[in-house]
Amino acid sequence: MTRKHFLQLLATLPFTTVAMKLRDVNALLEPLRPTAPMPVLFLGHGSPMNAIEENEFVAGFRRIGSQLPRPNAILCVSAHWETRGTWVTAMEKPRTIHDFGGFPKALYEVQYPAPGSPTLAQETAQLIQKTSVGLDYQWGLDHGAWSVIKHLFPKADVPVIQMSLDYTQPPRWHYELAQELAALRQKGVLIVGSGNMVHNLRLVAWDRLNDTGFAYDWATEASEKMKQYIRSGDAQPLINYAAQGKAFQLAIPTPEHYLPLLYALALRHKDEPVELFNDRPVAGALTMTSVKIG
Ligand code: ZN
Repeated sequence: MTRKHFLQLLATLPFTTVAMKLRDVNALLEPLRPTAPMPVLFLGHGSPMNAIEENEFVAGFRRIGSQLPRPNAILCVSAHWETRGTWVTAMEKPRTIHDFGGFPKALYEVQYPAPGSPTLAQETAQLIQKTSVGLDYQWGLDHGAWSVIKHLFPKADVPVIQMSLDYTQPPRWHYELAQELAALRQKGVLIVGSGNMVHNLRLVAWDRLNDTGFAYDWATEASEKMKQYIRSGDAQPLINYAAQGKAFQLAIPTPEHYLPLLYALALRHKDEPVELFNDRPVAGALTMTSVKIG
């Protein structure tokens, strides 16, 4: 189609359609605009039901969402996408993945139709030097991403990509990889780690699932220490979590829900303000504690 034909076609469309189409095209093709550094988040996502329930955690996500500058795009590191090697989603329209079982039908009906950002996926792959980052066209948005991002941006009008967790790599490697994402903050990219700091499903008190405030002693101990290290900006013991004793071992029996925290902390500049929110345990063996940096 020539430019002339294209303009003739546009002239036949209602104005709002034209405006929308042009915006969509621009969003997909334009490089990301420079901005003041975006905040960085770690979100404790907890149960997938937080996607559709009204509770104190959802209220907390909304409150933080209302305080954020509008991002050009979001890059989410979710506990629920573990791969060999590091991948970023690069499709234009990521599907909503319902990666859980045994929940009410209403949860499976949730769609979060945020666009992807092939531009951000490519920029991220080029930016990272530590490893070769692959472009993925199969994944989409898993519930670690959409169940919380939907409360920040309910209109699903900010493009979202995910970056996977390479399960073959140790914690320090993840921390160093995350540091290489720093430049994206100046391009209006909101980087979101989504997991849970304390997350031991084997020890969850399933009969006290709605009991927010209840924590086993080891969960309280690990949570308090983690928060202390976060507040003081001391990342080393958090990276070396496996050497922090019994409470940490029980809080982090597997790394995937914890590692997204390291991605967020790695992006904190020295002396940058940090805010903890949704700082509550659930059912003994989980904490919803979330972090806003900047
Ligand atoms: Zn999870």
